[in-house]
Amino acid sequence: MNYDINQDIQEIIKRLRKDNISFEGKTILVTGGAGFLGSWVCDVLVEQGAHCICLDNLSSGKPKNILHLMEKDNFRFINHDISYPIYFGMSYHPLGICVADIKKIDIIMHMASRASPFEFQEEPISILRSNTLGTLNSLGIAKFHNAIFFYTSTSEVYGNPPKEAIPTPESYFGNVNPVGPRSCYDESKRAGEAFIKAYELQHKMRAKIVRIFNTSGPRIRHGPAFGRVVPNFIHQALHDEDITVFGDGSQTRSFTYVVDEIEGILKMVYKDEAIGEVINLGNNKEYTILEIARIIKELANSNSKIVFKTLPIDDPTYRCPVITKAKTILNWEPITSLEEGLKKTIAWFKDNERDN
Ligand code: UDP
Repeated sequence: MNYDINQDIQEIIKRLRKDNISFEGKTILVTGGAGFLGSWVCDVLVEQGAHCICLDNLSSGKPKNILHLMEKDNFRFINHDISYPIYFGMSYHPLGICVADIKKIDIIMHMASRASPFEFQEEPISILRSNTLGTLNSLGIAKFHNAIFFYTSTSEVYGNPPKEAIPTPESYFGNVNPVGPRSCYDESKRAGEAFIKAYELQHKMRAKIVRIFNTSGPRIRHGPAFGRVVPNFIHQALHDEDITVFGDGSQTRSFTYVVDEIEGILKMVYKDEAIGEVINLGNNKEYTILEIARIIKELANSNSKIVFKTLPIDDPTYRCPVITKAKTILNWEPITSLEEGLKKTIAWFKDNERDN
């Protein structure tokens, strides 16, 4: 199977058009725009005729994800770490750098953050900075421009929910270890959400919080330093290496294909009904990690052996969303099957693995 990312981008645009959603003419700042999900967002926005400002310090985002957009008149890249202040529409500010020629921003999507559990050990401080200081700085820009603020939070705010809290609704408060190996991510995303609630209260900010569940697809980062389960298993299967299941593989996750996730994200960004809301966006079909290993091995036609390794500390036992709010408020639900999404991801991997 050959994979063409443009077909998937057109598919997202087609689905948005069905709901009369277009960002044409809007100026949208995307922090983390060179990352996995951020770059898909930039692609759709540019294609729809928005003015897309991609802000990224390229610490985990990749130039390759946005290089093809650089020549477009309605795309602009700014190399900056959002955890340091930046001001738009001003020629001088004592606290940080200024971009004077961008006068008005309509929407800010704060998506910048590393998200791989491997990196929680390597880069915990930059993760904390993106989701706390980065959120604060982005909110400051939104306040100045009276823009809509959109924050990509995570299912990780729920921590390790007990079985009774599965599937998990947005109203669940979480079961999070504040000092564990995942706390830099879980707690900083929770703090990011609290910052937003404070700006809503104090500054009447129009804000939206999406909680993203495991998402995979083309452009997901891969390699031993940040391999999440799907890219890890695909890499291992394609090289006939051992497929490393952590624990006994009975822990569950649900996986959304990137096209479904970006469709949901952009519906939420667009719809006024989502202002002030917190919405789960994920797949509600749960699989064990051992099932995922077997499915990937088969789809990749691999001779790998499945082996078992130590389960990381605080690895959530179950994860599955309630998506009623997404269905009713956004008219969204995931429609790509696990197999179809994995087949496309495997095909993309075959062409791109060297460019890690
Ligand atoms: N996992 C695994 N083998 C790997 C990588 C991950 O068994 O090589 C497991 C991990 O322990 C977790 C699940 O797969 O239970 C999902 O891990 P991932 O890193 O993708 O993200 P998480 O959902 O834990 O944030």
